[in-house]
Amino acid sequence: MRLTHFFLPTLKDDPVDAVTASHKLMIRSGMIRQVTSGVYSALPLGLIVFRKVENIIRQEMNAIGGNEFLLSALSPNELWAETGRLEDYGDLMFRIKNRELVLCPTHEEIFTSIAKPNLISYKNLPQVWYQIQSKFRNEERPRAGVLRARQFTMKDAYSFDATLEGLDKSYKDMDRAYRNIFSRCGLDYTVVSAHSGAMGGSDSEEFMVPASAGEDNIAISEDGNYASNLEVAVSFKEKVRRLNTAKDTEEFHTPNIKTIDELADFLKIKDKSRLAKSRVFVIAKKEGNEYLLVLLCGDDEVNEMKLQNYFGIGIRPAHNDELQEITGADAGSIGPIGLKKKNIKIIADQMLEDADELISGANRNDYHLKNIDLKRDVPGIEYKDIRIIKEGELTSDKRSKIKITKAIEVGHIFKLGTKYANALGATFLDSEGKENPLIMGSYGIGVERTAAAFIEQNHDDKGIIWKGEIAPFQVILISISGKSEEVRNTSEGLYNCLIENKIETLFDDRDDVRPGVKFNDADLIGIPIQVIIGEKNLKEGNAEIKIRKTGERLIVKIDDTMNKVSEFLKS
Ligand code: ATP
Ligand code: MG
Repeated sequence: MRLTHFFLPTLKDDPVDAVTASHKLMIRSGMIRQVTSGVYSALPLGLIVFRKVENIIRQEMNAIGGNEFLLSALSPNELWAETGRLEDYGDLMFRIKNRELVLCPTHEEIFTSIAKPNLISYKNLPQVWYQIQSKFRNEERPRAGVLRARQFTMKDAYSFDATLEGLDKSYKDMDRAYRNIFSRCGLDYTVVSAHSGAMGGSDSEEFMVPASAGEDNIAISEDGNYASNLEVAVSFKEKVRRLNTAKDTEEFHTPNIKTIDELADFLKIKDKSRLAKSRVFVIAKKEGNEYLLVLLCGDDEVNEMKLQNYFGIGIRPAHNDELQEITGADAGSIGPIGLKKKNIKIIADQMLEDADELISGANRNDYHLKNIDLKRDVPGIEYKDIRIIKEGELTSDKRSKIKITKAIEVGHIFKLGTKYANALGATFLDSEGKENPLIMGSYGIGVERTAAAFIEQNHDDKGIIWKGEIAPFQVILISISGKSEEVRNTSEGLYNCLIENKIETLFDDRDDVRPGVKFNDADLIGIPIQVIIGEKNLKEGNAEIKIRKTGERLIVKIDDTMNKVSEFLKS
C-alpha cells in the first residue's frame, strides 16, 4: 500500500479527552475516530488490525469445528421477554422507540431460537456456532476509546451439547482455542476463574491482559497455582479471635463519628478488626423488597459481586433516605442490634464468626455499642465470605501469597447449562427417546478491545510497537527522495520486490513531507521493520533498516535488503 493512496490521518498531539495509552495512540495513529460518546468508526489502518484479529479468531473457531453465522443486530422484544432479559438488562440495552425491537447486546436468545427447531435429536449434537458481529450496549460510562464502547465487535460463540460431559469437552476445546487466539495476537495474558468454587455454579473463566488501563482486578498467587477475578477471589486469613470476656453490651456517645477511621481515632484503637462495619442492602423481589444488613471487619470492604452471587442480581445498596427507615439511623451509626425494621436478614463475614467484644453503630445517630458478641446478641445471624480479599494474604491452601493486578478482560468462556434452553423450550430427544433441554456454553471475545489491550502492553513514548500476526503491515518503506530520481527509482524497485515476496509493506512515497515527519509517523504507527532509502546511504549502494521495538539500526547493501528483512521477520 502506498501512503499517497492510503488514508492515514496521523496527529501530533494527544486528544484532550484520552487518558489511556491505547485510546491516545489509536486516535493519533489514525486507526479510529470518535463519532459520539462510546461510538467509534474504524479508519483503514484500524480496520486492517481488527480484521487480522478477526481472522485469527475465525481460524481457531473453525479449527474446533465452529460454524460461522451472521445474525441480525435487531431482534424482537418478545424474544427477550421470554428469557426475562428484556427486564434484566435494564438501561444497558438499546431499545428502538418506534418498533418493538432491541439492538442485541449479546445473542443467546437468537442462537437458541435457531437451535430450537433444528437441534432436535442427540444425533444433531454437539454443535459449535459463532459469529463476528457488532454488539450494542448502552454502557453507563464508556471509557478509554474502544476498550469500553457502546458499539463494538464481538466474536460470540455458543455450544450445544446433549450431556454435561459433552459440555465439558466443548468448554475445553474453546479454552484451547482462546489460548491459541490470544497467543497469536501477541498478548501477555492470564486465565482467571470468574466464579468462586465456594459458591457452586458453573465453570467460567476470563482471559485477562494485565495492564494499568484495566478496569478489572485480578488476584494471582506467587506460585501461579491460583488466579481469580477479585470479584470472586478467596483467601486464607485468621478469623477474629474470641476473647470470651462475656462483658455486657453498652451504648456510648460518639459525637460526629461517621467513619470507621474516625471511630478508631476517637477510641485510640489501631486494629480495626473489631470495629464492625455495617452496610444495608435492598433485595428487590416480586413480593416486595427484602432488607439485608451485612457486617464486616472495619478494615474490610464488602464484595458486592459475592453478595450478588448469594442473593441475585436484584441486590443494591440502600439509599440514604431508606437507611433511616430501615435502621433508624444514618450511615455512620448503623449496627446489627436494635434495628428499626424487624425481619431484617443479618449476615456477617466469616472473619467475624467467633468474634466478641465488637463495636458497631447503635442504630441511633451519634451512638455506638460495645462488647457485642454476635453469637450471643444477634439471633439468626449467618456467616458467609463477603469481603474483598487483599494483596499479601495467603491462598486458601496457605501455600502462597496473593498479588493483585489491574487487567483488561478480553475474553470470557462460560458454561451456561440449560438456562436459555429452558426459557425458550429448546429440547432434543436423547438416545432413549426422552426429551431434554439443550446444554449450552457461551464464549465471547471483544475484537477492538483485544487490539487496544495489545497496544496497552506494547507501546513507548513514540507510539505503538506492533509485532507478529496482528501488525497492520510488516514493513514500512520510507523513501527520503528529496529531488533524487535515483532514490525514487530504487525505492520503487524495492517496494515491488517486497510485494512480490508477499511481505505486507506500507510505502511512504510522499514527496511533499519532511523526513522528520515521516520518521515520527513510522514510529507512531509502529510497523515492526522500517526500511529507509536516503541519498547519502544510496551513494554507497546501501539502505538502512531500523527495528521499531529496539531502535536498533543497521546499514545493508540494497541488494541484500530483501534477505535481511526476511531474516528479521522470521526471528
Ligand atoms: P465487562 O465486564 O468488561 O463489561 P462483560 O462481562 O460485559 O465485560 P461479556 O458479556 O462476557 O463481557 O462479553 C464478551 C467480551 O466482549 C468481553 O470479554 C470483552 O472483550 C468484550 N466487551 C464487552 N463489553 C465491551 C464493551 N463495552 N466495549 C468493548 N468490548 C466489550
Ligand atoms: Mg459488561
